[in-house]
Amino acid sequence: MTQTRDLIAGEQAVLAVPRRRRYRLCQILTIIGVVFLCSFGSLSLANGASFLGTILLTSALIGLINLYLLKRSRNVDRAAKTLTCILFVLSMSLLVTGGKDNTGILWIYPIVAINLFINRFWPAVILFIIFSVISTLLLFTPLSNLLLTTYTFTEAVRFILTILALNVICLAALYAEEKASETVLQLYNEDVRQRAYFDSLTGLPNRWSFIMNLGRMISRAEVDKQRIGLLYIDLDNFKQINDQYGHETGDRVLLKFSERLTDSIRPSDQLFKVPKESLARLAGDEFVVLLPNIQDPLDASSVATRILKMFEGGFGVDNIEHMVYASIGIAVYPDDAKSPADLLRQADAAMYSAKQEGRNCFRFFTQEIAERLSQRQHIETGLRLALREKEFVLVYMPIFDCKNNKIVAIEVLLRCPSHDLVGIGPDQFIPVAEATGMIKDIDLWVIENAFSALIVLQNEQQFTGKFCINISGLELKNEQFPTHVKNLLERYKISPQCIEFEVTETAFVAGDLTCLKVLNALDKLGVSIALDDFGTGYTAFNQLIHYPADCLKIDRSFVNDLFSEREARNKMVMIIQSLANLYQLRVIAEGVETEAQLNYLKEHGCDWVQGYFLSPPLNWDDLIKRLNEEPL
Ligand code: C2E
Ligand code: CA
Ligand code: CA
Repeated sequence: MTQTRDLIAGEQAVLAVPRRRRYRLCQILTIIGVVFLCSFGSLSLANGASFLGTILLTSALIGLINLYLLKRSRNVDRAAKTLTCILFVLSMSLLVTGGKDNTGILWIYPIVAINLFINRFWPAVILFIIFSVISTLLLFTPLSNLLLTTYTFTEAVRFILTILALNVICLAALYAEEKASETVLQLYNEDVRQRAYFDSLTGLPNRWSFIMNLGRMISRAEVDKQRIGLLYIDLDNFKQINDQYGHETGDRVLLKFSERLTDSIRPSDQLFKVPKESLARLAGDEFVVLLPNIQDPLDASSVATRILKMFEGGFGVDNIEHMVYASIGIAVYPDDAKSPADLLRQADAAMYSAKQEGRNCFRFFTQEIAERLSQRQHIETGLRLALREKEFVLVYMPIFDCKNNKIVAIEVLLRCPSHDLVGIGPDQFIPVAEATGMIKDIDLWVIENAFSALIVLQNEQQFTGKFCINISGLELKNEQFPTHVKNLLERYKISPQCIEFEVTETAFVAGDLTCLKVLNALDKLGVSIALDDFGTGYTAFNQLIHYPADCLKIDRSFVNDLFSEREARNKMVMIIQSLANLYQLRVIAEGVETEAQLNYLKEHGCDWVQGYFLSPPLNWDDLIKRLNEEPL
């Protein structure tokens, strides 16, 4: 819709150029005309040619009115018509009266030329015919009795022939000018079309034209009972290329990929040209491929395999092997969906699933993905509502000191008791909140409510421990986050030493400057930072020195596997513990469910523990009871 509007607006802008020129022409010619008419009118009156003089002065007056109206209304067409009439009457009167010694007809030449140029081609042709016919009738038939002068036969023939030649030249020039502006308009429209429907970098159709192409293809497939495969491709690690080599290199990679993609979807045994509408670049590093008329959904998988092969051993562009890969999702019409939007959404969901399952692979849209997608949509709707109505509550999980079994800290955990999200825990709704951007508001809500709860505990329960608040890894990319925290600390008058932020280890990106900046800013505020779920990510241990972290939280899966047969896992607690000793970090083990686990952790020097064996997450009232039961 907007594209069409833009197109029309642009076209009008191009058309306005010749219109502006005609406006100026009309204006200037009328001014010149009025000056001449006034002077010749006065001269004619002075010479006793009162008829011609009156006509000339009346024409000058009409010309002036016309000029005024043109300025006011900017209606060029009406002004041109009036000017045409004035000039026509003027030239006819010059012909009829002959002026002084029949020289009047000489003025007819420029007047006729002007009259043609202020008109469009076809009106000018009609004007020319009318003028020629009337002059011929006046000069060569008994109608010449109407003339107030007499012309010799030679004069008349010469006049008619020269006026004919002049007219033909003027009309040819007018025609050429009109053709030129038509060509400009055509070129402009093609350029606009190219920009409106195609991606400027790769020349591939953009999202908008892709949806249109897909719609057309689906309508055809419906009639012909055909299948269409839709491949949704997303490049993995592409951001790193931009970060490492700059956007120009990133653009080169995208361009090369689009070229190789075109080649890869052409079956090797065929030489047909791939239709442009089969490919599109939807956004940044997202592309789609349409495979019309596939016999079997599996045909799409061979194309996907060919695309993945492109990345084997790196993706070489300009002598650099880039470590980019692709995740591909496949959906098939009509098996998976019947409308273009649904088909695209499902291929996107399948791509997302490929990304989660290790990247550099393809996945078909399946019933399971469909269920996950609908569950996700359900959570998203529920979460939006809950956020608007502030339907969240906090629960509190005590953390104990291994030395004296006292509560030293409390982890704050979020619950959403909204009836739309019954049975859905933060494990499920936090990732949705992260994907939709709602997490920023949620994190701030949690921090603010945790702070006000802490104030109560400090004042009424003499609680002196830490409050451990989970924040999304996305906050490490949010440069505003430390400022928000600072403002809240000030507003609630909370000492930063009482606050620990827990961030999952996977959110720490080695070498990411924003991440480091945010962490340092938090550190400067005086709050402490814990690396949550430690051991599940891939933090190079020597990177630990670069992060201002204070604490490692051993993931509960390792505590769970303490006495398992799998050596690689039962040793993890010990490994993390040694690492923490090396870097002088505090250790919290979470998920302690048995006495044996607790004793083991105590023996191996763990600082703090939490888990169902000691206490489950508690609601506010239970937490108060529990704190009151604490031995002094
Ligand atoms: P997490 O930070 O690792 O939190 C610990 C999770 O393990 C909690 O689940 C807790 O109830 C559970 N847990 C603790 N001890 C045991 C145990 O002994 N046995 C078992 N089976 N489970 C135990 P919860 O509350 O469902 O939270 C899940 C995750 O959701 C959290 O993992 C955290 O990543 C995220 N989350 C929770 N609250 C918030 C929040 O306020 N903000 C943000 N951004 N994320 C949150
Ligand atoms: Ca946590
Ligand atoms: Ca954890």
